[in-house]
Amino acid sequence: MTRVRLRSAGDRQQLAWAEGLEFTLPDGLLDRPALRDARSATNDLTLPRGPIGWSDTDAKRLREQAAFTDQPPASSRLPFAYHRVPARARAAAAAILGRWHRRRRRTWATFPDWPLDLTSDFVTDAAGTGAARAEAPVAVILSHDIDSPEGLSNLVRDFLPLEEEFGARSTNYIVPCAWPVDHALLGEVASRGHEVGVHGYDHANRTPFASDNERARRLDAARPLADRYAAVGYRAPSLLRTRPLLRDLSSRFRYDSSIPTSGGPFPVPNSGCATARPFVVEGIAEIPLTLPRDGSLRFLGHSPRDIACLWIDCADTIARSGGVVSLLTHCERRFSGNREMLSAYRRLLEHVRGAPRRFRFATGAAVWRERFDVDRGRA
Ligand SMILES: [Zn+2]
Repeated sequence: MTRVRLRSAGDRQQLAWAEGLEFTLPDGLLDRPALRDARSATNDLTLPRGPIGWSDTDAKRLREQAAFTDQPPASSRLPFAYHRVPARARAAAAAILGRWHRRRRRTWATFPDWPLDLTSDFVTDAAGTGAARAEAPVAVILSHDIDSPEGLSNLVRDFLPLEEEFGARSTNYIVPCAWPVDHALLGEVASRGHEVGVHGYDHANRTPFASDNERARRLDAARPLADRYAAVGYRAPSLLRTRPLLRDLSSRFRYDSSIPTSGGPFPVPNSGCATARPFVVEGIAEIPLTLPRDGSLRFLGHSPRDIACLWIDCADTIARSGGVVSLLTHCERRFSGNREMLSAYRRLLEHVRGAPRRFRFATGAAVWRERFDVDRGRA
């Protein structure tokens, strides 16, 4: 793979968004005869007029190249319980570790790049079809993975009022079988118009790697919760996802949202689909997670102020590219449920509301209906 910067898209209107951005291309695509003189010594790419020999198949191959986490991650075998280290020591250690990891970015973000890599969309549009592009204003999905009772109560106390102030409704993936779900609270989430989805089974990170029978048992255990809240969406714990998992989800849910555009350091290095556009894989609609996640950003030692800027920059780029903006935040205090991170979140919401021609708030289910529900027109 070679990292190139697109200097000029030639006469391709549909690719104007990509000028000035970096992409990670397989050498096979760069070696096409039409591109013989297209690359400078510093890897600036100037696309010639006329066909360059790329196809939708190339874009799909890139999208699926690193989309799955076929092995359980090493991080689930950390030698110590990170959360038991005192908070002050943890913050200091995290800052040092974070800087170290940031310097090593080339080892965990070879492909996809970090914090955003739209290489697959670039290849789609360069191939000339551009079929999956969304018109502005693009959808902005605000999602939360609710991993604990603390997350659920912080969601209702701090996040829902903030989102509603901006006219937004969030999409909330709940762990169904790990802790007693407070249905009074969750019922309130749903009755206020926010979406409820399913977040795995017990968050032990085993479902994607289990035997077929065991995986089916774990997925079916979520059915009572899914039925009670009319859940149509699934988010895999720790974003661990395999082809067999998605295949099994296709008969149980309408969409999955477990594949990040750029996975960053977690759950495994060099994972993601390098597209911000929803697609179908293993028979189910996939709505990729397109913005960098709160956990990875905090881990890398970014300040809440930096995080707001990064989210806004990435959202603007995705809007230009015709993708969907999709953010995951966790409501626990150690992630985004604290004053500083809530104000970073507020800055993103202000940015979105301030640009109504570029953005609109949506839920995961709404994006699924718009893009994939073939019965919508006949209903
Ligand atoms: Zn989770």
